[in-house]
Amino acid sequence: MFDNLSDKLDKALHVLKGHGSITEVNVAETLKEVRRALLDADVNFKTAKEFTNSVKEKALGQNVLTSLQPGQLMVKLVKDELTELMGGETAGINLSGTPSVILMSGLQGSGKTTFSGKLANYLKTKKSKKPLLVACDIYRPAAINQLHVVGDQIGVEVYSEPENKNPVAIAQNAIAHAKQNGFNVVIVDTAGRLAIDEAMMAEIADVHKAINPQETLFVVDAMTGQDAVNTAKAFNEKLNFDGVVLTKLDGDTRGGAAISIKSVVDKPIKFIGTGEKMDAIDVFHPARMADRILGMGDVVSLVERAQEQFDEEEARKIQKKIAKNQFGFDDFLSQIQQVKKMGSMKDLVGMIPGAGKALKDVDIDDDAFKGIEAIIHSMTPTERAQPAVIDGSRKKRIASGSGTSVQQVNQLLKQFDQMSKMMKMMQGGGGKKMMQAMGK
Ligand code: GDP
Repeated sequence: MFDNLSDKLDKALHVLKGHGSITEVNVAETLKEVRRALLDADVNFKTAKEFTNSVKEKALGQNVLTSLQPGQLMVKLVKDELTELMGGETAGINLSGTPSVILMSGLQGSGKTTFSGKLANYLKTKKSKKPLLVACDIYRPAAINQLHVVGDQIGVEVYSEPENKNPVAIAQNAIAHAKQNGFNVVIVDTAGRLAIDEAMMAEIADVHKAINPQETLFVVDAMTGQDAVNTAKAFNEKLNFDGVVLTKLDGDTRGGAAISIKSVVDKPIKFIGTGEKMDAIDVFHPARMADRILGMGDVVSLVERAQEQFDEEEARKIQKKIAKNQFGFDDFLSQIQQVKKMGSMKDLVGMIPGAGKALKDVDIDDDAFKGIEAIIHSMTPTERAQPAVIDGSRKKRIASGSGTSVQQVNQLLKQFDQMSKMMKMMQGGGGKKMMQAMGK
């Protein structure tokens, strides 16, 4: 995410981070580089200028040059300013109202339908809500079908009236249906066009007025850079929306939209979309995003994801097995599955401070576990429970069954063996023994 910008900011701040003496001249030089990095990332010109001016002012105010650690103080000022620019605090979503009505707006292709599904799934699984999805696109039957497919995928009901050509009526009927059937959130997906046009704007404004939603979210494709900001302006003038959803942040976006949208429309980014799958949705946290942009990682999100996937009962079970020396490949497999549920490897690595930068040229393969899983799947239940029985001929069979080599099988067995030993020692509280084992 935002690799290029991160790189350039890192280079710009490099001098200050170093131990050389810091002068007024190199502070000015650094800020010039920072501004150039922002402009290259497609940040709005005015925004970039205000950004560096503000950092400069604060630097002077805090006597950066005479402070104990001028470099670190400057980096902190840049980070704080970036956080502020992206909205400062994390903005929540308003779920008051029975049902709470959320209206989705945006251009066609922005990811509106996909996001409607993601949001429904998020509210259902994380907030214990009972959402209803509503298909209000009266022009493209395919759009209605798409929402039904999404709804089926996440187990959320979709309300549609394929014969009805009045989006206002459909939305109103859907809300009545929700009230009668105990849905507490209604997410209305509307028609988008390829570009801003008056008819579409008038139509969504009508729907907006008629259903008076608690939340109106504007969905925009982050890859469109400055265009995203301009579209946001146009929609905001018409709808006075409550928040922005930035999609496709998993792609090769330069980051400009994420950084400038708040300052241009003065509405917070509330969610981001980071993939095509239904769980690729994140609440937007400005401070964490600033950390990521500056290559400081995002440990808080990483830990949160780990906690979300952490299953206490499963952990206790595993602990018992380790104590009894019964930890086998089936358990290993289920651990891998848990890690995979945390998200794409590339995304996770980006959250580790420094790792994103260090590994930016390494092609992190989301299928990294594939070989390991294939090998385990080619083992018999006995082999999985008691790896010690795996002899030469079994290794050959497993390798050919999994499309790997005996060498790869050996490697996995060795790693597994080392890991089991390590876990056993940790269980026994034998920190010393573990250090010895690791030294071997
Ligand atoms: P709509 O026309 O605004 O409803 O857009 P869709 O929801 O149909 O999305 C358009 C395309 O973008 C589809 O191919 C989606 O799979 C894809 N898409 C949506 N959100 C994301 C995202 O966060 N990341 C990526 N990589 N693709 C996305």
